[in-house]
Amino acid sequence: MLTPAKAIADGLRAAQTVLIVNHENPDGDCLGSSLALALALESLGKQVTVASTDGVPAMYGFLPGADRITERADLGGPFDVAVGVECSDVHRAGKFAGALSAARVVVNIDHHLDNSGYGDLVWSDPEASAVAELFYRLILELGCEVDERIATCLMTGLLTDTGSFRYASVRPDSYLLAAELVRRGAQPHRIYERVYESRPPAAVRLLGLALARMVLSGDGALAWTVVDEPMLQAAGARWEDTENIVGTLRSVAGVRLAVLFKVQAQEVKVSLRARDGVRANDVALRFGGGGHVGAAGFTARGPFDSVLAQTLQAAEEELRRAADR
Ligand code: 5GP
Ligand code: MN
Repeated sequence: MLTPAKAIADGLRAAQTVLIVNHENPDGDCLGSSLALALALESLGKQVTVASTDGVPAMYGFLPGADRITERADLGGPFDVAVGVECSDVHRAGKFAGALSAARVVVNIDHHLDNSGYGDLVWSDPEASAVAELFYRLILELGCEVDERIATCLMTGLLTDTGSFRYASVRPDSYLLAAELVRRGAQPHRIYERVYESRPPAAVRLLGLALARMVLSGDGALAWTVVDEPMLQAAGARWEDTENIVGTLRSVAGVRLAVLFKVQAQEVKVSLRARDGVRANDVALRFGGGGHVGAAGFTARGPFDSVLAQTLQAAEEELRRAADR
């Protein structure tokens, strides 16, 4: 049977030039999976470009090959194959949407619920706890050795997307893959330390400022807060330092839906985290975004006051729907 993994491996084997594209605001799963595939393809003699429209957040700078990821708009091409990593549609590739679409063969590998099915070869599995699970299988299908560097990249994806194996998305396969990656040289404690315990002081200060502004509503089931430019300046922080604010909001007793509003110059980026049967992605979808049940997001244009009011209304509706389900 021609599985998606086999079809994609065949497509990649036939290619000489490959473009691997991350989504906007890339996370550990996206970056780790991209770099793992790049290393594997290079071992087969392919010419590989890895692109990220928003670069690489400092916390992922330790990933093997992170410094090769390009933000340069002009990549040349068209490429023989382009792989969209966790891009639910081509627009999630930001300034690389054109290069992704223009490749001779477009490959779409994802585990988000709202994948649009774009591309010539599609492998979308929302059951996977991290897209790194799919990339591991693809790399085996390519007949490549999973060495320590590849194992570190994939383990970073698995560790970060499962919240260090705490989320409901974790399956027996997640642990089996973790065991395999550790056997091949990944060191989860070191990855954990690099990602979560090497935080810039400014990020921790920003977390404090954001938490001080936390608002609870909906009988304590909804928590939200805001980060804006003046807060970044006060903390000496960058946008990427907002990473764990919304997760901290969700950790409050009784909170089932947490919302972070990142108020930027032209737009408001909204991050949602849910638990206990509340669906973050259903809220995000209403505003043109997407994601997973537990973690989703969208970008809104327009005045912050109206984005806030509309989002809180949709959030409260979702909490009511979850109570009725
Ligand atoms: P974050 O809140 O960390 O930016 O994103 C949480 C999850 O939602 C991630 O899986 C991310 O890919 C997804 N996500 C965030 N923003 C968007 C968006 O605008 N569109 C879609 N389709 N997914 C998004
Ligand atoms: Mn992921």
